[in-house]
Amino acid sequence: MDADIIIIGAGVAGMTAGIYAARAGKSVLIIEGKVAGGQIVESLKVGNWPGEIMISGEDLSKKIYAQVEKLGVKVFYEVVEDILNDKNGDFEYVIKTDETEYRCNALILATGTEPRRLSEKQMAMVGKRPVSYCATCDGALYKNKPVVVVGSGNTAKYEVSYLENIASKVYNIHHDEPIPVDAEAVFVAIGRVPATDYLKGFVDLDTDGYIVAGEDCHTSQPGVFAAGDCRTKSVRQLVTAAADGAVAATEAVRYLG
Ligand SMILES: Cc1cc2nc3c(=O)[nH]c(=O)nc-3n(C[C@H](O)[C@H](O)[C@H](O)COP(=O)(O)OP(=O)(O)OC[C@H]3O[C@@H](n4cnc5c(N)ncnc54)[C@H](O)[C@@H]3O)c2cc1C
Repeated sequence: MDADIIIIGAGVAGMTAGIYAARAGKSVLIIEGKVAGGQIVESLKVGNWPGEIMISGEDLSKKIYAQVEKLGVKVFYEVVEDILNDKNGDFEYVIKTDETEYRCNALILATGTEPRRLSEKQMAMVGKRPVSYCATCDGALYKNKPVVVVGSGNTAKYEVSYLENIASKVYNIHHDEPIPVDAEAVFVAIGRVPATDYLKGFVDLDTDGYIVAGEDCHTSQPGVFAAGDCRTKSVRQLVTAAADGAVAATEAVRYLG
């Protein structure tokens, strides 16, 4: 499948980029590895999205997705594994997914962040017990059962208070502490890391793995732009992700001429 512009990631940044690219008259498609909406889908309350006094992340995602769909932008549910320069073809870039290949002349990277995983040492202690990164999604499975939350930040505190209404006992430990023997499930809340492993040196990353790109969203590769939480920036929020989507798509359209 080919398009003028391909967007990787259907979070708020990627979907906003899709809206801007489609409205500018370019052929555009989005490749999404999990669920349209990205990380905000799991959030029950969003109170700082202009125009909505309070909305759930899921409902906000559905509204943006409806706009994307109405503009005719197709979302393909596949995981991007590699990107190559298309040296022999009519296109500049080849995007390899777990199912097929796509080609385009401009590319927007909008893959956001993902939960930080437990260390190998701690995973060995977890054994065969289920590991979840979202109490809201999976907490109900452990009604009246003992569970453990790993982490000490605000997200971990929220997960603990959420699970206290469901589980028989909620342990809360730091990331380097032993997992209690009787805990039947492990909820992990130890921060987030950029989802950029698939780039493998294709564009410059900083030491933490974020794509090096300024407010114009340009990366180290011509015709490749980064939008949202996956790029180097000081504020990672919905409005800044949306703003990046608009900028990245506008710059991609300008690049294509
Ligand atoms: C619990 C929680 C609550 C929050 N609450 C708020 C709030 O109230 N207000 C606010 O402004 N912000 C909030 N934020 C922050 C906000 O959610 C993010 O800043 C914003 O969603 C980032 O959007 P994004 O599109 O850049 O990335 P993401 O939402 O992370 O989307 C990236 C997408 O790319 C996909 N992807 C990743 N790798 C690949 C791959 N290799 N192939 C294909 N697809 C891939 C992912 O599946 C994902 O759908 C919250 C975040 C969390 C975690």
